[in-house]
Amino acid sequence: MAVPFRRTSKTKKRMRRTHLKKSVPGVVTCPNCKEPIRPHRACPKCGYYKGKEVVKVSEED
Ligand SMILES: [Zn+2]
Repeated sequence: MAVPFRRTSKTKKRMRRTHLKKSVPGVVTCPNCKEPIRPHRACPKCGYYKGKEVVKVSEED
């Protein structure tokens, strides 16, 4: 089995890992108004959850 000739330097390791980014979960798109919202919560824009209005939103535009 091949073995690394040199130890990877801190800089090289960090340069390689700049491409490894953790994607932030917990943002989904509202199926009603297409706004990015938190999952398992009623949409703060349109007040919809699971296809029907569950919360009245005061500002309607
Ligand atoms: Zn919505």
